[in-house]
Formats: sequence, C-alpha cells, structure tokens
Amino acid sequence: MGKALIIGCGGVASVAIHKCVQNSEVFEEICIASRTKSKCDALKEKLDGQGTIITTAQVDADNVEELIALINEVKPDIVMNLALPYQDLTIMDACLATKTHYMDTANYEPEDTAKFEYKWQWEYRERFEEAGITALLGSGFDPGVTGVFSAHALKHHFDEINYIDILDCNAGDHGYPFATNFNPEINIREVTANGSYWENGDWVETAPMEIKRVYNFPEVGEKDMYLLHHEELESLALNIPGIKRIRFFMTFGESYLRHLQCLENVGMTAIEPIMYEGKEIIPLQFLKAVLPDPASLGPRTKGKTNIGCIFRGKKDGQDKTYYVYNVCDHEACYAEVGSQAVSYTTGVPAMIGAALVMNGTWQKPGVYNIEEFDPDPFMEGLNKWGLPWQESLTPELVD
Ligand code: NDP
Repeated sequence: MGKALIIGCGGVASVAIHKCVQNSEVFEEICIASRTKSKCDALKEKLDGQGTIITTAQVDADNVEELIALINEVKPDIVMNLALPYQDLTIMDACLATKTHYMDTANYEPEDTAKFEYKWQWEYRERFEEAGITALLGSGFDPGVTGVFSAHALKHHFDEINYIDILDCNAGDHGYPFATNFNPEINIREVTANGSYWENGDWVETAPMEIKRVYNFPEVGEKDMYLLHHEELESLALNIPGIKRIRFFMTFGESYLRHLQCLENVGMTAIEPIMYEGKEIIPLQFLKAVLPDPASLGPRTKGKTNIGCIFRGKKDGQDKTYYVYNVCDHEACYAEVGSQAVSYTTGVPAMIGAALVMNGTWQKPGVYNIEEFDPDPFMEGLNKWGLPWQESLTPELVD
C-alpha cells in the first residue's frame, strides 16, 4: 500500500519496525533513518527478505534542511517520528515543507526545560490543515492507547465520563539495582518533575512522588504507584466532555526510588550544563551514558506490565464504572521482537497509528491527538498486533 520513513532507531523504533515488517501489506517499503546509521543497517540485515523493502539513511533530525532533502529523496506517505521529543518540531516543519503526513509518540519538550506541553505542536494546526496533511500526535501507549481507550469508553460505554484514572504498572524485573526502561534522560526528566492532575477545570500541582497509592493490578498483584504529570492529561482534559478529574499513576519499586533520590541529591539528574575538565557537560546526559542501555534490558527482564484506564461516569442516567487494560509479558515480547515490554507497548501502537493514517482510515488535515479519531479500528488493531485488551465493570477503585 505505501512507504514510511521512520526516524530514530532506538528501543521503540526497533519494535515498530519489526511490526511494520509483520504488516508488509500496508508497509510495502520503509526507510529507517537515524543519527547512528549502523543501528539502522543492523536492523535491516535482521529483517530483510520478509516482505517489506527496507532502506536506511543517516540523518540529523535537528536539521530541517537535511530532513527535507531526505523526505524528497525517499518520498514516503508518512514520517514516523520515533526519535526523541526534542525533534518533534523540526520533523513537523519538514513534513509541512514536503506535504507529508506525520506521527509521533511523545510531545515536544525543549531540551533546556524539563516541561513537555502540546502548545508548540498545536500551533501547527492551521498550517497542516492548509497543506492537506495529517499529524497524529501521541501514538504510543501512554499517550496513545490510553487516549484510544478513552475514546472507546466514551463511544461504547458512557454518555458522560467524569473521572479517569490512568494506571501504568511495570512489574518487570531486570535484575539491575537501577536502570530505566526507556531513554533514561527522558524518563528521569519525567519522574523528577512536579506531579499534577486535572480537577474541576484546573491543574492541581504536587511535589514529585507526593501522592502514593497501592493498587492490586490484575495478573500482576499489589504495587506502589505514584501520581505523575503525564502528557495525555492535557489533551484528554479538552477532548473528553464532562470530565471532572483525570489522574495518572505509575508504579515504581523501592530500589528505583532510592537510587533516583540519591542521584538527585548529588546533582546527577540536573539538566543545566556544568564545566568538567574544560568541557561543558550536562549531568543527566552523562548519567545516561553510564546507565544500562534500555535495549540491553530485553534479554534479562521478567514479569509483566499492566497499563489501563478506570472510567467513572453516567450511562442512561445510571452511575457506571469501566476498566480497560492490557497485560504484556516482558519475556514473550523479547521472544517475538527482541525487546522488553516497555518498548513493545509503545512500538506496536506506533505501527498501528501510522498504518491507519497511511491506509486513509485516520486521515484528516490538521493536527490531532489520538483520542480525536474513531477508536474502533485501533482497538481491533491492538488485538490483532499483540496488545489484546481486557475489560471489567467492577474494578477496584483508587481513592
Ligand atoms: P532511544 O533513546 O532508545 O531512541 C531514540 C532514537 O532517536 C535513537 O536511535 C537516537 O539515535 C535517535 N535520535 C536522537 N536524536 C536524534 C537526532 N537529532 N537525529 C536523528 N536521530 C536521533 O529512545 P526510545 O526508543 O526509548 O524512545 C523513543 C521515543 O518514544 C521518545 O520520544 C520517548 O519519549 C517515546 N516514548 C513514548 C512512550 C509512550 O507510551 N507514548 C513510552 C516510551 C517512550 P542514536 O542511536 O544515535 O542515539
């Protein structure tokens, strides 16, 4: 059916690329382009001959001119941005210049401020509309599947949703005292920031990890979870009518939190540059360099993830509760695509979202968050491509 240009070749991209090749009917051709071309070539070598034609390229995605030249050469139907949030705007600029559809899994964040927001990308709405191209924002798991779950709940289960709790549990054990499951820099910036949730039309800010709850996750068991600010809260607060409160909780083990606190206390998580032996370095980037590469956790991680949403609202005048979630097994993911479940749960939705834009199902000119599209084909895609969902009308609630 078409051709995708995939930018980035890290943990998430690797899964998405495996899945594109499994779905070669839609992804007839892909070009994998990243900063380090050898990673793209290694993946091409592994996946060549399975139906999808694969090419590779070197690109600096911070450079709009380089991106435009690459898009003009490859002529893709869509650019899948699976690099880092810092590159969202340059890649969107290049898509605009070449009139090419765009998708990503994380919203823009300036490199010098650990504060992600949609406002920068929403400013592209009119320009994408005028160019007749679609930008699909946040097609990972959270954001991503959590937005699709919300649209699905609204379409099929509620007349009005008043409360959403998003619960992200990773019960995987990689055997290291401290490691992050995706890009350490992005992960640590997220969890060391203040928490916040949306209530009655306003943001309520909390100190980092201030609000803790214990939840008994299906197929996983009891885990400590902490309230964080998270990207999808911002768009869901606007796109779910009647919403009164949205919160996001993520599980963390004691060892992770103890190490993180120590690293913060000694200044290793700072993003302001410091001078070291005559050279400017950013402590968090140095820390990333000494931590295990998330891609190396795949073969050693055991256990499951459980990510889902609990909705409360009204249906036919009655109070209703609905919980929809996915359980994913780290070892099964590794056996299938050579990555652990955190990359898997992001890479699969990236492929599904891109496929829906490419085959026209989700094309509408402009810039849209994922919950603004019809959830049904995506929910079907989750069952088909390795992230089946389960539901309950009587879940344990979070107080
Ligand atoms: P990785 O660090 O593993 O991969 C990032 C890739 O982008 C690397 O291949 C890197 O190249 C490449 N890259 C970075 N900068 C540039 C640049 N300037 N030009 C070209 N390529 C570049 O990250 P992950 O795969 O873990 O994460 C990818 C994205 O997914 C992130 O934006 C992350 O926030 C998002 N994410 C979203 C989730 C969701 O549920 N929505 C969950 C988890 C992650 P190199 O190999 O040279 O370093």
